[in-house]
Order: sequence, then C-alpha cells, then structure tokens
Amino acid sequence: MTDSVTRDRAFEGRICVVTGGTRGIGHATASALAEQGATVVLTGRDEAAAKERAAELAAQHGTVVAGHALDVTDSAQVRAFFTGTAREYGAVDCLVANAGAMEDALVGMMRDEHISRMLDTNVVGTITCLQAAARVMMRKRTGSIVLLASIVGERGSAGQSVYAASKGAVTALTKSTAKELGRHGIRVNAVAPGMIRTDLIANVPDEVVERRTADTALGRVGTPEDVARAIRFLCGTDAEFVTGQILGVDGGMVL
Ligand code: NDP
Repeated sequence: MTDSVTRDRAFEGRICVVTGGTRGIGHATASALAEQGATVVLTGRDEAAAKERAAELAAQHGTVVAGHALDVTDSAQVRAFFTGTAREYGAVDCLVANAGAMEDALVGMMRDEHISRMLDTNVVGTITCLQAAARVMMRKRTGSIVLLASIVGERGSAGQSVYAASKGAVTALTKSTAKELGRHGIRVNAVAPGMIRTDLIANVPDEVVERRTADTALGRVGTPEDVARAIRFLCGTDAEFVTGQILGVDGGMVL
C-alpha cells in the first residue's frame, strides 16, 4: 500500500463528532473527515436536517455518517449524547466543537437575548461538549479535540464585542484544557478562521466582505473547505505532538 493510499483512509476506524455539522464549516469538516474513512456523527438542532446531511455524506464517501439532534446549550442533552455515542460506537476519538452563533451590534446596543445566545452557545456549549467528550476519551487515554475560535477573539472587532469575547474565551479554554488533559493522552487545539463564506456572515454586505479581504495576504474570502482541512490536520495523527495551539486559517488577515 502506498503512502498516498494510506493517507486517503487515514481516519479509518476513528469515531469523530462534529457539532453544528449541518451547514458551513461543520458540514465541510464532517465531509473532510468522512472522505478519509472516519465514522462521523454530525449534529444540529434540527434532527431531520442532521439526518439528511448525514445520509448525503455517507452516500458520497462510502463510510458511516450519522445525524443527531443536539442543542449544545442543553447540558443534560450534551452529556447524554456523548455517553450514548460512546456506547453505540465504542469510543469518541475526535470532537470538533464547531457549533456557534454570532450577532453583531455595538456593545451599547446589544440585546440581552443575543448576549445570552452567544455566550450560551459559543462558551458554555463548547465547554460542556469538551467536558463530556473528554470524560469519554479519558477511558481510552487518547483523543483529539478541536475548538472553533476566531481572529476577532485575538484582535477585537468593533460591532462584535460580545462575539469576540466569546471567542477569546475559547482561545483561553484551548490553552488551559490542553495543559489539563495532555496527561490523559488528549490533545486540545483550536482554529481561528478569518472571514469564511457561510450563513454566519450572510448579513454582511458583499462590498464589506470584499473590502475586509482585499488587503489580506491571499486577497480572498475563505471557504468552509479551507477551514475543514486545517481542522482535519489537527484531529489526525499528523498533529500528534501538537496541543494548545490556535491555528489561524485567515488567508493572512492578521498579518
Ligand atoms: P453557520 O451559521 O453556517 O453554522 C453554524 C452551525 O452551528 C450550524 O450547523 C448550526 O446548526 C449550529 N448551531 C448553532 N447554534 C447551535 C446550538 N445551540 N446547538 C447546536 N448547534 C448549533 O456558521 P459557520 O459554519 O460560519 O461557523 C462555524 C463555527 O466557526 C462557529 O463557531 C463560528 O463562530 C466559527 N467562525 C466562523 C467564521 C466565519 O467567517 N464564518 C469566522 C470565525 C469563526 P442548526 O442551526 O442547524 O441547529
């Protein structure tokens, strides 16, 4: 078997959970992992959509892809989901805690429900998923967790203060949990995407997207697949000595 053939199925036999896998970066990540033979469990709040997306990816890549309803803001549901997944598949080897929410407004204008939605989804939801996955991974003394940070969590963004704060928390969570969980054989890393063309930025006018990306090093908006490939690298054995890192996937936006 050649190296390239081995690499083509590098995730064979590995169980990967992708939260928010129905759309955007999460969906592209589920696809990238399935492409290399992973058994993928993707989640979204809408069960029918999750099952439909999973069936499409299973047919496309010829591997097991399951779709489940999961609201990451419901901690009891999150715990039951990870326990049930480990029972059904025997393990959880990778978690991509991708589910996220964004509401733009100047800090003085930000509505309470939007503050709660972002903090509950991006911070508490990410923590709860990481915690539940880590408990399962500890039994096998191995696992890889990838969180979704953002460049705005590091450099700030006017009109996105609360979203930036939530992503700054993800950056801090990545570094601290990498230190805690390394001794259990679990790696924790994050990607910090720049501007990626998904539903999340659907309300940002095209000219704003173009202006913000025109003077980046690569001069274009990112695709979900650009981020998915970086996440897959962090999930896999090519990154087995990488932990606590925030990998920028931004086309050089922060340079
Ligand atoms: P999308 O809006 O395209 O997708 C978001 C996903 O998260 C959907 O699958 C959605 O599922 C899921 N989701 C939202 N809230 C919940 C919840 N409470 N419980 C479970 N699932 C939920 O966003 P992107 O793909 O763009 O974003 C993915 C991640 O990347 C997010 O964490 C985002 O903050 C981050 N990111 C994105 C950037 C960008 O430019 N696009 C830049 C930097 C970071 P459903 O609604 O179907 O339930």
